[in-house]
Amino acid sequence: MSARMRPYWTSRLAESRKPRFPSLRGHVDVEVAIVGGGLFGCTTAYVLAAAGVRVALIEAKRIGQQATAAAPGVIVPEPAVPLVTLDAMHGRRAARAAWEMSRRAALDFAALLRRLGVRAELEPVEIANYLSAREEGRELEREGRLRREMGIEGQWLTAARASAQLRTESSGAIRVKAGATFDPYRASLGLVRAAKSHRAKIFEGSPVVAIKQGGGRARDAMPLQISTARGLVTASKVIVTTGGPTRLFRPITRRFTPLVTYRVVTEPLSAALRHHLPASPFVLREATCPGHLLRWTRDHRLLFAGVERLRLPERSRPAALVQHSAQLMYELSLLYPDLSGIRADYAWDARISASDDGLPRIGPHRHYPRHLFALGAGRADDGSALLAASILLRHVTGTAEKQDALWGFGR
Ligand SMILES: Cc1cc2nc3c(=O)[nH]c(=O)nc-3n(C[C@H](O)[C@H](O)[C@H](O)COP(=O)(O)OP(=O)(O)OC[C@H]3O[C@@H](n4cnc5c(N)ncnc54)[C@H](O)[C@@H]3O)c2cc1C
Repeated sequence: MSARMRPYWTSRLAESRKPRFPSLRGHVDVEVAIVGGGLFGCTTAYVLAAAGVRVALIEAKRIGQQATAAAPGVIVPEPAVPLVTLDAMHGRRAARAAWEMSRRAALDFAALLRRLGVRAELEPVEIANYLSAREEGRELEREGRLRREMGIEGQWLTAARASAQLRTESSGAIRVKAGATFDPYRASLGLVRAAKSHRAKIFEGSPVVAIKQGGGRARDAMPLQISTARGLVTASKVIVTTGGPTRLFRPITRRFTPLVTYRVVTEPLSAALRHHLPASPFVLREATCPGHLLRWTRDHRLLFAGVERLRLPERSRPAALVQHSAQLMYELSLLYPDLSGIRADYAWDARISASDDGLPRIGPHRHYPRHLFALGAGRADDGSALLAASILLRHVTGTAEKQDALWGFGR
């Protein structure tokens, strides 16, 4: 396999066309500082700035080039955790509320990208939550029954129907409408531009090294001090969207697991080959955790994601990428034997952080006054960026709703 060992999304844009933002120098004062310029930070910067909040976004490296550029670019209109699990963990009412919030955010996120004219190759798709023929279909059937009982969308397909529709051996699937695919890197750039047009201040190449609260009795009235090597942002609140907790918040690292997952993008597939595969508006999402995810790109390639491991030391990263991208191509050929011998043109790893129960943690933490977090996308999808941004805006404006707590640290 002679894959280019780099992400598909960032490779498609010439270096000269990738926008540059200044690094932070000197002192900037805002109402809210956002640390981390991935899709979550960029969406949050836009949502807050559009609501009239004075914000500064501070990114350590380049905007949108970490987990965001490594993401599959799929908006899934439901939480990452099955309804059956949510129901068992939090009860019927909370499960329904979490479901509705996720669905609303996914629809709104696609609508927002359209409304802002962000050119991120957004395409509506159906999501097929499928099981391979190796898996037992009963659990997914139970999920389908509970959805029916609660009036939640999701058409259960028996093994025979799933296999016919997905053109691969499957022991069952649930089909869901209202998903979307897009380019997550371009989306983050579009959102950050839109934030800037609402006067958000954007900085990159500026790792935050410390966040300090003023001392003494008037501590709560003193601004927070967010420092980088050459600059300082003072703000009354800070929002942390750094993917995982990073070394800035070591005490909460036990709630998150640093993981690495792998993605490959094939060479463009001929019309004859595509004929043997599910039609373009489908995303296949394996209903096991962790599972595979398969989507089309606009230039007729397949993006296949899967294989999840604990994060490795930096020195083992290149060899692991070669090994696991070859493994992914093999697994793709098991799913669709017609693809045997197809080349991977791109292969990359994604360094992600999953929360302890599979849902992202969005909101305040009692040990960190005036801080808000959106961490551990929790095997969530890219659409949860707007869910996070909307919840964070409500916390900033003091209008948090009861169901926002479902996503917080106290759930
Ligand atoms: C089906 C599906 C499953 C997924 N599963 C997962 C999953 O299990 N877990 C997961 O996390 N994601 C997962 N993702 C991807 C997830 O949606 C992406 O992680 C998301 O798009 C990017 O999120 P982010 O903004 O949180 O992270 P990033 O894009 O990584 O952004 C964080 C930014 O913070 C910056 N930063 C870090 N430290 C500092 C500092 N000290 N100062 C300033 N900046 C700093 C980084 O440089 C980085 O740019 C999945 C996506 C899909 C579609």
